[in-house]
Order: sequence, then C-alpha cells, then structure tokens
Amino acid sequence: MTDEFNTEIYYDDDVDESYLANTTVAVLGYGSQGHAHALNLHESGVDVIVGLREDSSSRAAAQEDGLTVETPEEACAQADVISVLVPDTVQPTVYENAIEPNLEEGNTLQFAHGFNIHYNQIQPPEHVDVTMIAPKSPGHLVRRNYESDEGTPGLLAIYQDYTGDAKERALAYGKGIGCTRAGVVETTFREETETDIFGEQAVLCGGIAELIKVGYETLVDAGYSPEMAYFECMNEMKLIVDLMYEGGLGAMWDSVSDTAEYGGLTRGDDVIDDHVRENMEEVLEQVQNGEFATEWIAENQANRPVYTQLNQAEKDHEIEEVGERLRALFAWEESEQETESDDERTRVKANE
Ligand code: NAD
Ligand code: MG
Repeated sequence: MTDEFNTEIYYDDDVDESYLANTTVAVLGYGSQGHAHALNLHESGVDVIVGLREDSSSRAAAQEDGLTVETPEEACAQADVISVLVPDTVQPTVYENAIEPNLEEGNTLQFAHGFNIHYNQIQPPEHVDVTMIAPKSPGHLVRRNYESDEGTPGLLAIYQDYTGDAKERALAYGKGIGCTRAGVVETTFREETETDIFGEQAVLCGGIAELIKVGYETLVDAGYSPEMAYFECMNEMKLIVDLMYEGGLGAMWDSVSDTAEYGGLTRGDDVIDDHVRENMEEVLEQVQNGEFATEWIAENQANRPVYTQLNQAEKDHEIEEVGERLRALFAWEESEQETESDDERTRVKANE
C-alpha cells in the first residue's frame, strides 16, 4: 500500500446520523443498488425521493414499496444529496439532463462506483461534494443484510469536499444503507475504480469464466463426458469458493484431500504461470491508462457490437446447455438461494 491509499475502517459508532437530518436524498434508478439504497435509507428515517423517468417500468415497484417517486429532474431539484444509481453507461447522460441543471451549492453527488468521475465522464462543478459509498455486494444482498441486521461491508471515498462535511455526510449515508454495521473501508475513487475493474476482468468474472471453460474443454476434448466435466469444473467451484470465503485459502486446503492439496500446490502455478501474470499486468495497465474505459465508452456509443456478439457466444457455449440440463435434474435447483437470485434477476430485467 502506498501513502495515497489508507485503510481506515468505520463502524456505526463512528457515524453521526445528524449529517443527514433535514436532508433529502434523491436516489436515481431503482435497479440492483437503487432499490436497496432507497428502501434502507427510508427505513433508517432518511427523507428519500426515487428519481425515475415517466416511462420507467420501475416506477410501479418503487411506489408499491411505499416510496415517493418523481422524475429524475424533479428529484434532483428537491434533493440535497443525489445518489447516482443508474447504470454507469447512462450516468453521463442522466448527469447532463437531470443532475447538472439542478445542482446547488453545497449539494452532494454520491456514487456507488467511481468509473465516471475517475475517467472524467462526469465533471462536477467545484461547489458540490463528491462522495462514494460502494457496498461490496450486489443490491439484493444490501437489502437482505439490512433487513437481517447484518449489514454489508462497503467502501468510502471522497473526491471533492466543498462543504467540509463530505466525509461525515457520506458516512451517515453508509449507516443509512447498513454498511457501517459491517464496516466501511476508506479508499479513493481511483483505487476503487481501478481495483474493481481489474478484479472483474482478471479474476472474478473474466478470469474465472475462462478458467472454467478451458478446464471443461480440456476434459471434453480428451474424451471425457460433458456431465463429468461440468461437475468437476463448474459445479464444484461454488463449494471451493465457499470454503475460501469462510476461512481463506487455508480452510480450502484443510478440507480437500491431501492428494488434492499436493496436486493443487504443485500444478496450480503450472496452469496460472508467469505468462498469466504478465497478461494480468497488461490488463491492469489498460485499466490504469484509460484504454479500457475509452474502448467501453466507444463500444456503448456504437450500440455495443462487440458486447452483443460476445454475450451471445457465451450463451451458446456447450457448458451452458449441459449445465441447464444437469441443474434441472438435481435438487439444488430448488434451494432458497437459487430462488432468491432468480427473483433478483427477474427484478433487474424488469427494470431495464
Ligand atoms: P441496474 O442496472 O441494476 O439498475 C439501473 C436502474 O437505472 C434501473 O432502475 C433502471 O430503470 C434505471 N435506468 C436504466 N437506464 C436508464 C436511463 N437511460 N435513464 C434513467 N434511468 C435508467 O444498476 P446497478 O447494477 O444497481 O448499478 C448502479 C450503480 O451501482 C453503478 O454505478 C454500479 O457500478 C454500482 N454498483 C453496482 C453493484 C451491483 O452489484 N449491481 C455493486 C456495487 C456498485
Ligand atoms: Mg509447479
């Protein structure tokens, strides 16, 4: 860690909620994060207005949930804190049309991810605070953990502190959505943005999906059955990751067989070798120098030709068809977790 990054952690006791008293928060968007932030803040006693377009299919849901709904323009006009929870790719347009014309001196622009600030797609005026409270979890868990009193760990970052109260107000927001109950780590917009994007590309989404597919293909190409390959490379992944989540790598190594441990420790770095390390460094460089951001912004401006093609190719991969067939045959399909994430997928889809 360099000096630029510090790792202070804040809990409920460190927060003065009065920084959000007599304050109206506009939550723009009612998707994964938006619905969780709006409902949690509302139940924490904060005055919340949800900002949604007249034709948004989320309007009915937000109203049924007992929240006040206005257009994004009107919500921003009435708000002191504007929480920007529309998709990152549409934030610059929403900023231009609804937020900027309604920003008043001393208002707060609150984000859950730093992309548009860090890559200069949104350039706020000097007379506002710019903050981030980013839950380290999908929105449905932010909501569920609030209802169960657990809270969700999160990140805090201050990009601009015009009022002198930016951090206190952001922490009050973090408490309102349940993050300081679990703990909030202080970071910077740069660190949050770059580590988040690197992580999803190299490890969490991109890296793991390729690891699974290449493992599956290696077995199937060698003549083993697709069902065996699926169980081995995809299904068991969750069991292994659950152990790591609970107790780190140690809990995983402790609970697998000695054969698995010896084989993994000797062969793991033959698979993920120095060549992969160099590839990861290249991926990180493209995140740091803005190359990835520029590419993704242009891709969106061109209506996502590459995204659309890759999204379809992934759906068409044999492992998806094998998995769908196998999951339907086994009992875990009916598990509570699966049902809830299905609900969430439906909710997010309906919001688009
Ligand atoms: P989402 O896609 O789930 O929800 C988007 C919401 O914005 C929907 O209610 C939709 O109706 C509305 N919307 C969509 N297009 C719009 C448009 N053109 N104009 C106005 N409103 C529009 O988004 P999300 O995943 O909750 O992401 C919101 C923010 O939270 C992003 O900055 C994201 O990076 C961040 N974040 C997300 C997660 C996550 O797990 N989903 C985790 C941490 C941070
Ligand atoms: Mg080795």
